[in-house]
Amino acid sequence: MSTAEDLGARLEATQQQLDEITAAAAHNEDKMRRSQQRELRLLQADDLTTLFGELIDGLRSSYNLQYVSLVICDPDHDLRHLLLAAGTPTEDIDNLIIVESLTGLAPQYIALRQPWLGPYAACDHQLIFPTACDLASVAMIPLIHRGRLIGSINLGSSDPQRFTRHLASDFLAHLGVIASYSIENVVNRARLLRSGFTDVLTGWHNRRYLQLRMKEELARASRNGDNLVCLMLDVDHFKRVNDTWGHAAGDAVLRELAHRIETQVRVSDIAARYGGEEFVVLLPDTGTDDGECLADRIRTAISATPFALPNDEETTITASIGIAGVSPPSQATDLKTIGDSLVARADVALYKAKADGRDCIVVDGAV
Ligand code: GH3
Ligand code: MG
Ligand code: MG
Repeated sequence: MSTAEDLGARLEATQQQLDEITAAAAHNEDKMRRSQQRELRLLQADDLTTLFGELIDGLRSSYNLQYVSLVICDPDHDLRHLLLAAGTPTEDIDNLIIVESLTGLAPQYIALRQPWLGPYAACDHQLIFPTACDLASVAMIPLIHRGRLIGSINLGSSDPQRFTRHLASDFLAHLGVIASYSIENVVNRARLLRSGFTDVLTGWHNRRYLQLRMKEELARASRNGDNLVCLMLDVDHFKRVNDTWGHAAGDAVLRELAHRIETQVRVSDIAARYGGEEFVVLLPDTGTDDGECLADRIRTAISATPFALPNDEETTITASIGIAGVSPPSQATDLKTIGDSLVARADVALYKAKADGRDCIVVDGAV
C-alpha cells in the first residue's frame, strides 16, 4: 500500500470514528433534552392529578415501559383527602397506590435510599405492580421527603436487560429527587386551596366540601348497596344567644357545639358546618334507626350540660335534628340530584322538629 493510500485509509477510519462520536453525542444530547423536558413537566404540574398523571402515564410512555406505578405512604389520609377535595378520588387514578405503611409492600422498602434495579419477582413485587403481567425487570426509585422515605416510582419492563443491578442509576436518582420536590410542591398548593373547604370558626369542613363528599359517598353507597343517612341539626333560638350575650359568645357556643357533636360521631362519618348554626352529618352504611340513635346521643350531649360563656356565665342550649335516608340505585344516575334531595328531605324533617316544639328529632317520612 502506498503512503498516500495508507494515509487515505487512516483518514477514512478517523472520519468514521468522528461520525460515530458525533452520532453518540447527538443521541446523548437528545436523551438529556428529553429527560430535562420530562422533569420540567413534573416541576410545572400545579395540581396533584396532573402531577400523578405525569409520573405514571407520562413516564410510562416516555420511557416506553410496560408498567409504571406510584406508591405513596399517607398515614394521616391527608393526601387522600386533598385528592378528594380536588374532585379526584384515589380510586380514579390508575396505578396510584396509596398506603398507610410501606411495611410488607415490597422487601426493598426496608433500605430504599437509592434506586433499586433488578429482576421482577412476583412474590416481592406483586403488590407494587398489582395488575401487571409479563414483567421481567423493575426499577424502584425512592421518593424522599425531609430525609424520610415516603414512597417510590416503580418502573416495570418486559425486557430482562432493561433494569439490571449493573446499570448506572444516577439519572433515575435525579428523577426521584425532582419527583419528590414536585409532590411536596403540589401537596402544599392543594392544602392552600383546601382552605376553601374549611370553616374558619369551627375548623370543620364547610358546605362546599360536603357537596363533594356527598357525591363520593353516594357513589360508594351505590357500589356497595349501602344506605346513606343525613342528619341536619339547627340550634334552637340561637338568635337569643347573640342578642343576650353578643356575637363573640354566640361564636364560642358554636365552637363548643361542634366539639360536642364531634365526640359522638364515628371517624367515617362526615360532619360539616352547613351554614350559620346549622350542621350536617352524613352517616355512610347506616339505616335511619341507627341514625336516630346517634341523633339522640348528639341532642343529649348538647342539652344535658350548660355551655360556658366568656363572661363566666352559662346557658343551656338545645338543638333540633331532621333525619333522612337514601338507598342509592345501583345503576349510574344523577348523584347530584339524589344528594340535593337527601339534604332537602332532612331539612323538611328539621322544620317539623322545630314545629313540634324543638329539642327533638324527626325522621323524614315518619308520622
Ligand atoms: P330557631 O329555633 O327557629 O332555629 O331559631 P333561631 O334563633 O336559631 O333562628 P335562626 O336559625 O333563623 O337564626 C340563626 C341565627 O344565627 C341568626 C344569625 O345571626 C346567627 N348566626 C349565624 N352564623 C353565626 C355565627 O357564625 N356566629 C354567631 N355568633 N351567630 C351566627
Ligand atoms: Mg338556622
Ligand atoms: Mg336556629
